[in-house]
Amino acid sequence: METFDLIVVGAGPAGSTAAYQAARSGFKVLLLERGKSAGEKNVFGGRIYTHFLKKVFNGFPGDVPYERFVVRETVGIMDDKRCASFTFSDHSSEPSAADSFVARRSRFDKWLSEKAEEAGAVLVTSARVDDLYMSDGRVRGIVSAGDRIEARCVIDAEGVTASLSRKAGVRSDVTPGQFKIGVKETVEIGRERIDDIFALRDDEGLASVYIGYPSRYLPAGGAFIYTNRESVSIGVVLDPVEVSGKRVEVQELVEEFRLHPHIQRLIGRGKVIEYSAHMIPNSVPSNPQNLAGSGFMVAGDAAGFFINNGYTYRGVDLAIASGYCAAETFVEASKEGSFDAQSLRSYAQRLEEIGLLPDMRRFEGNQKVLHNSRIFSEYPGLVLDMISGLFAVKGFGKGKLSDTVKSTVYSRTSKFRLFRDIYSLYRNM
Ligand SMILES: Cc1cc2nc3c(=O)[nH]c(=O)nc-3n(C[C@H](O)[C@H](O)[C@H](O)COP(=O)(O)OP(=O)(O)OC[C@H]3O[C@@H](n4cnc5c(N)ncnc54)[C@H](O)[C@@H]3O)c2cc1C
Repeated sequence: METFDLIVVGAGPAGSTAAYQAARSGFKVLLLERGKSAGEKNVFGGRIYTHFLKKVFNGFPGDVPYERFVVRETVGIMDDKRCASFTFSDHSSEPSAADSFVARRSRFDKWLSEKAEEAGAVLVTSARVDDLYMSDGRVRGIVSAGDRIEARCVIDAEGVTASLSRKAGVRSDVTPGQFKIGVKETVEIGRERIDDIFALRDDEGLASVYIGYPSRYLPAGGAFIYTNRESVSIGVVLDPVEVSGKRVEVQELVEEFRLHPHIQRLIGRGKVIEYSAHMIPNSVPSNPQNLAGSGFMVAGDAAGFFINNGYTYRGVDLAIASGYCAAETFVEASKEGSFDAQSLRSYAQRLEEIGLLPDMRRFEGNQKVLHNSRIFSEYPGLVLDMISGLFAVKGFGKGKLSDTVKSTVYSRTSKFRLFRDIYSLYRNM
């Protein structure tokens, strides 16, 4: 039976980066992917932060299959007919110097898996890993379609379900609070229209997030739009715990968002060319024991690495960074010849050093804010009424800014509560 130094489960950003990094160091690596090709079934909003990709691959952007670089950001609040938004654009340098780019996962994940193959990893697609092969309390390989394949170490990069990590005992059982759900459509509207309506040109792109109406005013929910070359990705993110018991058909929300008068005027009657839904991790693995066991490490979504601070969704850069650190830990452990849980603990240490775990902890407090129902249900209407009042001229006798704020805001909510919520937003986001 053929054995490998390292088996990586899942050719998403975490798995392919781990396989690339270990293969590059001369190890015999097997990368197993259940899809027909890498990225085939993978779903995300569309934006990838470049910082760690640049560390792993020299010469960015090189042949990275980007759609557009994000030079324009919008944050918006909506009710069913109105939208107030803040837009920031930065043209101080070349678009390719932007912190992030928009990508399509079918192309990006395929590219990344090809990099792993070029480095020497063996990629096998349509290969679902069903179980771990364990003996003496240690992971010694995997089981796929009844075949046992052995390796000195296994990295679980299978994404949010993390079923192997639960089998290995490094992650606890699934609870509803561990996930969010995201639904997304890709709408083709043509390059010219995208450039015109979003004020972009060439490789420039836009990322926008909205709260309020698109997620039915439910806490921890929101919506996004990202511009591809010829199409836009639009989607809604919801917390299943907040949805339960309410009459919300999650799959309808993205259509409602697309049909909102503001969004309609942007994207018009574009053709929906893709619809998908996927879970997003919600958990914060502050305990390093959740990251490695004997002969086993977990990276990316499977480890719960996702940061949502209300205006940025980040999972792919954390997946790339954790895949890289898991591979580096494997390389180091190989020098010692020991893959027991104690040796692999240095994986958590690496994640500390690069700042990933500190970032996760820093944003732990934002869960409190994201579940404050006033921010999602009460304040959007208040803000929209106040802005509407600011611009309205119905005749003589228009009040000053302070009159509008008093009549629309303070008359409907307590000043103390409002300031406390603003302070909490300021502190935690
Ligand atoms: C709607 C939505 C919007 C998002 N928006 C953004 C965004 O804009 N920016 C961002 O950075 N992140 C975003 N994310 C999160 C991002 O998609 C994830 O954080 C990222 O994909 C995690 O990468 P990964 O490699 O850990 O897992 P995945 O990308 O999920 O890859 C896991 C791979 O493992 C394979 N696999 C699973 N089980 C098995 C098995 N048993 N055997 C073999 N193969 C298996 C899967 O097919 C898949 O290819 C979003 C997510 C969603 C759902």
